[in-house]
Amino acid sequence: MGNGASAKNKNTANTNSQPARNQATTPRRGGNNFQEVQVRPADDHVTQDYRGTPPPLTNQQSPTHNNMAQREQGANLANQVGKRRTEAHKNSQKALEINEKNPEIGKQLKLKLSDLKSGEDIVFETFEHESGREYQCLYTGGMRFYLDDWHSKEWQPFPERWYKQGKLNTNTVSKDNQTRRGQGASTSRGGNQPQPATSSVPRNRDDREGVIDHPRRGRITTYMFNEKQYSHCYYDKESGSWLRLPIGWELHHELIKNMVDQVEEALPHWNDRLDILAALRACNYSADECISMYFHLEGDDWLKVPRTSKEAQHQADREIRLAVLEKKVRELEKDLQQEEKGRKEAEEQLNKLQEQYSTISAEAKIATTQVEAMQSSRPKTARPKTPKTSKGPPPGSLGIFSDDLDELNNKAKNLHKSHVHLKMDVERHFGTLGKMIKEALSAVSQIKHSESGQMKELEEVRALYQKEALERKLLYNQLQELRGNIRVFCRARKDTRTKCCLTFPSDQDITITSKDGSKKTFSYDKVFDTETTQDQIFEDTKAIVTSCVDGYNVCLMAYGQTGSGKTFTMMGPESNPGINIRAITELLKVCNERETVTYALKVSLVEIYNETVVDLLTADAKTVELKSAGNNIRMPNLTDHEVAEVKDIKHVMAMGDKNRTTASTKMNSTSSRSHLVLLLNVEGTDKVTGAVSRGVLTLCDLAGSERISKTEAQGQRLVEAAAINKSLSALGQVFSALRSSQLHVPYRNSKLTQILRPSLGGDAKACLFVNVSPDANNYPESCNTLDFGSNARQVALGQAKQNISKKAP
Ligand code: ADP
Ligand code: MG
Repeated sequence: MGNGASAKNKNTANTNSQPARNQATTPRRGGNNFQEVQVRPADDHVTQDYRGTPPPLTNQQSPTHNNMAQREQGANLANQVGKRRTEAHKNSQKALEINEKNPEIGKQLKLKLSDLKSGEDIVFETFEHESGREYQCLYTGGMRFYLDDWHSKEWQPFPERWYKQGKLNTNTVSKDNQTRRGQGASTSRGGNQPQPATSSVPRNRDDREGVIDHPRRGRITTYMFNEKQYSHCYYDKESGSWLRLPIGWELHHELIKNMVDQVEEALPHWNDRLDILAALRACNYSADECISMYFHLEGDDWLKVPRTSKEAQHQADREIRLAVLEKKVRELEKDLQQEEKGRKEAEEQLNKLQEQYSTISAEAKIATTQVEAMQSSRPKTARPKTPKTSKGPPPGSLGIFSDDLDELNNKAKNLHKSHVHLKMDVERHFGTLGKMIKEALSAVSQIKHSESGQMKELEEVRALYQKEALERKLLYNQLQELRGNIRVFCRARKDTRTKCCLTFPSDQDITITSKDGSKKTFSYDKVFDTETTQDQIFEDTKAIVTSCVDGYNVCLMAYGQTGSGKTFTMMGPESNPGINIRAITELLKVCNERETVTYALKVSLVEIYNETVVDLLTADAKTVELKSAGNNIRMPNLTDHEVAEVKDIKHVMAMGDKNRTTASTKMNSTSSRSHLVLLLNVEGTDKVTGAVSRGVLTLCDLAGSERISKTEAQGQRLVEAAAINKSLSALGQVFSALRSSQLHVPYRNSKLTQILRPSLGGDAKACLFVNVSPDANNYPESCNTLDFGSNARQVALGQAKQNISKKAP
């Protein structure tokens, strides 16, 4: 995927913190600076060891340091530039002569760049090839090089023929010793010498924005996001500091190796481990994301970029040749079109002439027949013996002969006149017709132009809208992140039959007192006392639930021992519904309120019993298969029902309840021994941009968390208990892995965590209710439940994802 290679490029050519695109317009020069521009001979292909051992970053090499040093040196060295340029010019002429005579020497020129003495003047330039491609060049010591950042990422000698195929834009130090950023651009066509600064080059507002021209996808907008990523370091005893782990070393790390293996196994044709690792780095060490990224881009040419400078050169040449040929083809097509037009016109003219000829010949025929008829109608005696010898018409017949002839003459004259008129008329009409066609054409082009203007405006508005929507989403996400992505609420069940052993010092604390009087206090994001209504509970979860509409995955779950009020909280009785119905009602409301987006809601209901996932929306308690797909889990044979109104969801719940009872009777289990998971898929399509957002609301009524008594610990109960214990501990492990930002989060350890995976971790928002009973007899179980909640809550507290540098081991 070339990420490894581009990483290398950053460490070598790109010493400035700006992206390479800006370097092209930023003059950089001076002594030590160019030594960071590493140049390798042509036969030194991109090998593992080269890419594997980029120079570690030290403070001395930090970009800021270089920039300052560069500025100082810039001031000192700028006044030497004039002298050096004359020298450099002579050198360049010599070098180019040699280069032309012997191409082999060209290769050696590359080596020379690394031999240049410090203090040598370096001028950075951009070369615009006629094919439309732009190259970054540097000119030093009379030699010019270009950076093949497209393929081999190396500095190559500037090909001689290119001087005729494009223009060089030079960025250099001006004479007044000032380094003018992005100002010193001048243009020289076919020249090989840097020119003084004249015109200015526009700079981008934000240099993290950019574009790349993809051969098939066209112009792609890019942006360098400033995100928190894992950075893998090793402790360097010599310098006493943590340094970046080179990509080649990293491959020997056990955990990383496993990840690369995982990706390689999934994508056997991607057989470049370094590339895989580079992609993994880019995906923040998430193998799943890396796989899905590859799947998304599979078959892309850029994923298999040429690796050697020769190949790159070859390809670059080929592409340039192709561009030239394409241009030629276009020109030829144009010529052909013109020729065809000319041919058509000629044909038209020919047709016209033929028509004229045929009318004239028809007229001539008629005239001849008339003459013949007249001649034959005359008496023989009146006819001249021969027209040539006759000196005049015979006496007596002279009047008739000349009349006929006159008449004929007149007719012929009239005919000719009308022919000339006709011709003029036709020509005149053709003239007006041509004018009209021209006008129509220009009107059409004007319409097209205005249409494209409108389209452009629409496009701009669309882009703005998209940006706003994204910003809103990001802001909301940030807000949630600040609050913690997993929020833990505690709810105490109302029970009038027993004495309450719970007290509530504040709305975030709960104290539990044992029979012997010992007290324990636990803190949560919110504690709801026994008197809290269903409505108040929902008020605090509403905000999280609605973020599902923006494309976030949201999970609400209830944890606690049997009888502590989980089902009451999640489902509730029909007269006083719990979170499920209220959340879906609210979602439907929000969806209907948003006018610019159309939403499709689909609901599924599953039960996880003894590590088997059962579809509750089918009558025959069908088992559901789980298939992993990147960060998500797919359940291909799961039934879903569309939800458009509240009554739909009630209907689905009733159906699920009925099927659950049937299934539990069949399996001889009780509902408290299984997890009930409701999945609501919310898919929104933006009417303006066409963008699709997908969020899943997962509502989970967990199985009772109590440990089983010794008397129960046998047969089916034991199996059930083991399955529940497995899944609830897996849930706890997932929380603690998320809390300590571990690279491996053990989602795969249970069916429950697999199903909840999209809603735990990452951008997802989760809300855990820990339900406790007020009965002092339940003290041990209540303590366990409260402990679980406390642990989960620290995930939220651990959300301050600062990359605090670790201490030395
Ligand atoms: P669980 O699902 O945890 O096993 P349930 O939700 O079924 O527990 O609750 C057990 C009993 O307690 C039910 O009859 C339920 O109506 C009642 N109950 C639970 N929480 C409350 C509450 N906050 N207010 C009133 N009754 C409740
Ligand atoms: Mg229950």
